[in-house]
Amino acid sequence: MVVLDRRVGGCRACPRLVDWREEVARTKRAAFADWTYWGRPVPGFGPSDARLLIVGLAPAAHGGNRTGRMFTGDRSGDVLYQALYDVGLASQPTAVSVDDGLELYGVRITSPVHCAPPANKPTPGERDTCRPWLVQELRLLRPTLRAVVVLGAFGWQAALPAFAEAGWTVPRPRPAFGHGTRVQLDGPDRPGGQGGPGGPGGADGLDVFGCFHVSQRNTFTGRLTPEMLRDVLRTAAGAAGLR
Ligand code: SF4
Repeated sequence: MVVLDRRVGGCRACPRLVDWREEVARTKRAAFADWTYWGRPVPGFGPSDARLLIVGLAPAAHGGNRTGRMFTGDRSGDVLYQALYDVGLASQPTAVSVDDGLELYGVRITSPVHCAPPANKPTPGERDTCRPWLVQELRLLRPTLRAVVVLGAFGWQAALPAFAEAGWTVPRPRPAFGHGTRVQLDGPDRPGGQGGPGGPGGADGLDVFGCFHVSQRNTFTGRLTPEMLRDVLRTAAGAAGLR
């Protein structure tokens, strides 16, 4: 996983995003004028033997693109890490920089697009260009991975094809995104059918949960409350065997 993370960090496959992430790193936000921005793709964060994966959308221009770590240094991360801490999956409730001491317990956080996009909106082409990184990450996690929380519809649409490419069986038509949606995917070692050893999805099946994104728009308006987020994380952690 360390090798993959390093390779992701050097990717320049999307010209528009390369320009944007580097321009933001040069011009900065006044409040962070004394920071040296990361200004590169932000790799996944968390142990390489995680049982639970959280899939977001893309790094924020002045969050992950500044600090170099997923959801670190922005308001969305404040909400996510507080909830992870509250349910016992993180060592501390805050994430401000790569050397802040934060550890995740059995959880990894990634995104289907690793570079900060203008207006937080990657194009479908950029999403598809970045997918091989997510597929490789999923393959590396596959021996231990048992549950995924996908934050938002964009992540959902990006992640389902990646699950399929990484070896899980995704139903057709693809299940629609919704907060609280739960889909069980059969694992590569057990195609088709339910039940039997390992229960639904088989011993290497995957429980996929939909959750509204922790964006400011959702959290400020109360569309996603801390309690709703904690509920999804608790349920997913249980499905992953972490609780
Ligand atoms: S978004 Fe993904 S594929 Fe595009 S440049 Fe960044 S890391 Fe590479």
